[in-house]
Amino acid sequence: MHALELARDAGQQRLQASALGLLALHEWRLGDSEAAIGHSLQAIPMLKRTRDAAERAQLLCTLAMAYNEVGLHADALIHVTKALDAARAAKDPSLMSWALNRTGVTYELMGDPERAERFKLQALDIAQQINGSEEMFSALNNLCTAEEKLQRALAYANDALALAKTSGNAHRIAISHGNLGMVQLRLARYDDALRNIDEAERLADEHGYRGLSLSMLADRAMLERRRGDIDSAVALYKQALAQAHQTDDHAMLLSMHEGLYDCCKARGDAAQALEHHEAMLPLERERMKQQADTQARLLLNRLELEHARSETERARLDAEVQRLRAMKLEAENQQLVVRAHELGRHALEDQLTGLANRRRVDHELPLQMASARERRGALSIAAVDLDHFKLVNDRYGHGVGDDVLRAVARILLDNTRGSDLLARMGGEEFLVLFVGTPLAVASDICERLRRAVETYEWQQLAPGLTLTISIGLCDADAGQDMRALLERADASLYAAKRAGRNRVQVAMA
Ligand code: GH3
Ligand code: MG
Ligand code: MG
Repeated sequence: MHALELARDAGQQRLQASALGLLALHEWRLGDSEAAIGHSLQAIPMLKRTRDAAERAQLLCTLAMAYNEVGLHADALIHVTKALDAARAAKDPSLMSWALNRTGVTYELMGDPERAERFKLQALDIAQQINGSEEMFSALNNLCTAEEKLQRALAYANDALALAKTSGNAHRIAISHGNLGMVQLRLARYDDALRNIDEAERLADEHGYRGLSLSMLADRAMLERRRGDIDSAVALYKQALAQAHQTDDHAMLLSMHEGLYDCCKARGDAAQALEHHEAMLPLERERMKQQADTQARLLLNRLELEHARSETERARLDAEVQRLRAMKLEAENQQLVVRAHELGRHALEDQLTGLANRRRVDHELPLQMASARERRGALSIAAVDLDHFKLVNDRYGHGVGDDVLRAVARILLDNTRGSDLLARMGGEEFLVLFVGTPLAVASDICERLRRAVETYEWQQLAPGLTLTISIGLCDADAGQDMRALLERADASLYAAKRAGRNRVQVAMA
């Protein structure tokens, strides 16, 4: 408990798990299986990493045995199987032997002695390979509990005793004598059995193993009952019953009353037999009730734990869904922004040449006119039209016609300033707005434009191709509205066409 608190304070998960594991092991040994289960279940999730496999295997074994103790054998089986996996992952033969041993015990409790023996034998095999005396001892002792195949059980019990003697451990020696005595008793070798049971009892008394001492007394009673000395059996059972009352050992009380009931019945003492039978009933009921209560509590705990886990998981998933939703919204938003931007651009831009379109001119020209008026600045406007462009299309095809339009746009761009507004008004008509440029200067620029088109290497687009443009130029006088201004530029352009094309016509003031 102290170690657990220290580990918790230090925030050390692994230490915390170790402390919980130790606590659970002691709780199981002291018979508080419920607490052992609780603490094991707490510790196991803290031991997820590969290098924790050994500790996990140990903990899972404890948990399984505690489950067995409260009658939840199916849960025990699930956890011994996990313990086997963990022991294998840890490549620890001692733990493998323990896990196999516990698996055998679990199968035995589930009523499958065949499988139980197979697992216990595997446990023994590994124990012998590593010469682990504790592992061997436990495997042998568990093997000699088999009710059938008594000769084999006898051999295991003898082996266990020999092993215990070499270890010199009094507790093990006492247990082994007791187990051997039980096997001999089943084989009806009563004298041998009595010798071993007596020896176990003597050692138990000498070293103060009270539980063992009591169960040897009970075994002796059973022995006398089997060999027909009912009076001796009754006396021994009564002695054991008195001791069991002192320790309030339910299981022992129950089996003493059962023995006495059996003896009284054999003697024909119906009244006494009934008394013991009646004493058994509340004990049996109490035992079943306790087990059922414990199982119910454990189930409830587990449900709560699972509920808490699923709540956490749901919260995590919710957060994840929110995050994904937010990401998707953000992406959609981005797309909308890009699309809006593109739409805006397309709405004001000529697709073929990338220059401004008529809509942009409609929007911008009045602003430029107002601004020029305010600043008393110059503003000149040129309407540009390709000469005989229809012929270009007719002779060279629409594709070349488009190339020509793009080339003219390029020439316009290359020969004007960034602050000028260049637009394709539709078809083969362009407009140039010379911002802050007086008419005389704009006239020169237009002349330069005209020449640039005339001298452009049109041959590179199509053999024999030539092209010229006509330009009508005017300036934006104060008070003129946009429509009137465009009409004046167009009138000049018309004049340029009439005058023979490939020329700049400046509107007269
Ligand atoms: P003018 O010298 O009098 O201006 O003669 P023109 O042939 O240039 O003028 P007209 O108005 O008779 O013909 C304009 C031609 O421009 C007709 C049309 O096929 C062509 N045109 C209009 N828009 C496009 C376009 O986007 N691509 C191509 N390739 N041709 C176009
Ligand atoms: Mg035209
Ligand atoms: Mg034209």
